[in-house]
Amino acid sequence: MTVTETVKGAVEILQGFRVTLTNLFRGQITTQYPEEPAPIYPRFRARHELRRYENGLERCIGCMLCEAACPTGAIHVEAAENDPANPVSPGERYARVWEVNLMRCVYCGDCETACPVEAVVLGHEFETAVYTRDGFLWTKEQLLAPTNPNVVVRAE
Ligand code: SF4
Ligand code: SF4
Repeated sequence: MTVTETVKGAVEILQGFRVTLTNLFRGQITTQYPEEPAPIYPRFRARHELRRYENGLERCIGCMLCEAACPTGAIHVEAAENDPANPVSPGERYARVWEVNLMRCVYCGDCETACPVEAVVLGHEFETAVYTRDGFLWTKEQLLAPTNPNVVVRAE
């Protein structure tokens, strides 16, 4: 093998390793999830949250528009009459049952859009993995509870 061929071969090897060598000196781009929160965008839609007014009353008035708007039949609402002496919501009715099946949900946000009182929103809590099918059925009590998202919202 001549010197020329040797040099040419070395150049070709270096060219083959160009991507590897370039990335060797770049900063780390992976994160140690879940120890480090995964950054998400502000408009990212994760699981549902049911909201209350500042006085503690539930926003949901049991109108079922979210259930009707859902394209996958993921939501189930059962309404009941409010007791005027001890109302659950400001309306005549409230949601006695409000459930969402996250195995059916496609996170389209139609339920959020359909709600006339902004009672249901898709928040940022995406850590919903469970080991049983039942675990994907979220009840009203779970959805009303304060969230604890392990997320960092990054700039758009
Ligand atoms: S986000 Fe879409 S698919 Fe999921 S429950 Fe709401 S309307 Fe249904
Ligand atoms: S969440 Fe909104 S749309 Fe759904 S039942 Fe309650 S008030 Fe109606």
